[in-house]
Amino acid sequence: MREERGESRVISSALSEIIREEASKIGRKVRFMNFCGTHEWTTVHYGLRTLMPGNVELVAGPGCPVCITPSYYIEKAVELAMRGIRVYSFGDAYKLPALKPINGAKSLSDARSAGGNVSIVYSFLDAVQDAEEYRRDSVFLGIGFETTAPSYAILFYNNKVPRNLFFMSVLRLTPPAARYALEYGASKGEKVDGVIAPGHVSAVIGSDPWIFIAKDFGIPAVISGFEPIDVLVSVAMLLRMLNRGEVDVKIEYNRVVKPHGNIKAKELINRVFEEEDASWRGLGFIERSGLDLSDGFSDNNAFLHLVEKQKEWSYDMPPGCKCAEVVLGVAKPTDCPMFMKACTPSNPFGPCMVSMEGTCAVWARFGGGGLADEVAREIGI
Ligand code: SF4
Repeated sequence: MREERGESRVISSALSEIIREEASKIGRKVRFMNFCGTHEWTTVHYGLRTLMPGNVELVAGPGCPVCITPSYYIEKAVELAMRGIRVYSFGDAYKLPALKPINGAKSLSDARSAGGNVSIVYSFLDAVQDAEEYRRDSVFLGIGFETTAPSYAILFYNNKVPRNLFFMSVLRLTPPAARYALEYGASKGEKVDGVIAPGHVSAVIGSDPWIFIAKDFGIPAVISGFEPIDVLVSVAMLLRMLNRGEVDVKIEYNRVVKPHGNIKAKELINRVFEEEDASWRGLGFIERSGLDLSDGFSDNNAFLHLVEKQKEWSYDMPPGCKCAEVVLGVAKPTDCPMFMKACTPSNPFGPCMVSMEGTCAVWARFGGGGLADEVAREIGI
């Protein structure tokens, strides 16, 4: 253990040196955006921002599925639970506050306190097994990105989902949102110079869907793993690519990610789901950025039997919450006057404070600087 820590220290120290050298060659300020809540967690928990030279800024992007789940779907889930229909939800969406309260309940947590029928599950399989015994109408709040979609798809594909369990799909696709965030940042004068692309999502979809970052925006991207050293290597790679004028998408997380992704998982997703225009909380509808059950699975589609799918969108952040700007990388949690005042992890006011992967929640738990002092001491800088 001690040896491992020693090795990590040497590697981190060497990487910090490379980052400093490459950053000094650039001679201007650069912003790198991550698209994955787990990258933000690693960056903050290990204090990686404080290891960056003054001209390198790391910003968070829209990579937390709970943060971008539209208020509309939480309101519908609360409504169903209050009507006595069992709603299955992952724990990290349980406290997600909706914009409009339903009979005084703003979240599934409130609904359960008020006698609503809410069940927290660890997986879709848990919901399937419980619904089989329950036998009455129930609904699963299907939040997630491409990483989660195969775990839903395999149960539908193998005909394991009982007729009384309806699926409310809030599945979202990350590349269209990444494009949106890059365009938005540029329009606000906050251009991104490189992207730390998501490792888990890319393990499913591969690196090919990220080529547009290089092609359309003329900036490099690196698909990164989640250890602190992975993130440091990715930053070093991005800086080096900028210095060499390489506009490309590279894979740092090559122990898991292949250019074409996981072919079987992609096939499963394509057999069970179909792409559609979909809404993102705080952002609105983004073209072909969501998945819903295809016609072959319509018996279980909540939008055909229990609730109407969202057709129109209006801004759905609570007044004063800057979460929309936070997920687009143009504001930091600390820019929000409510951060750690009216909005805390135990009493979240906005959606970015709910999930362990929400940027505000991560900053709240680890102080934005994380273990920086300790890390800095260890690697002797
Ligand atoms: Fe929204 Fe809370 Fe984050 Fe402020 S601190 S942006 S209110 S989630």
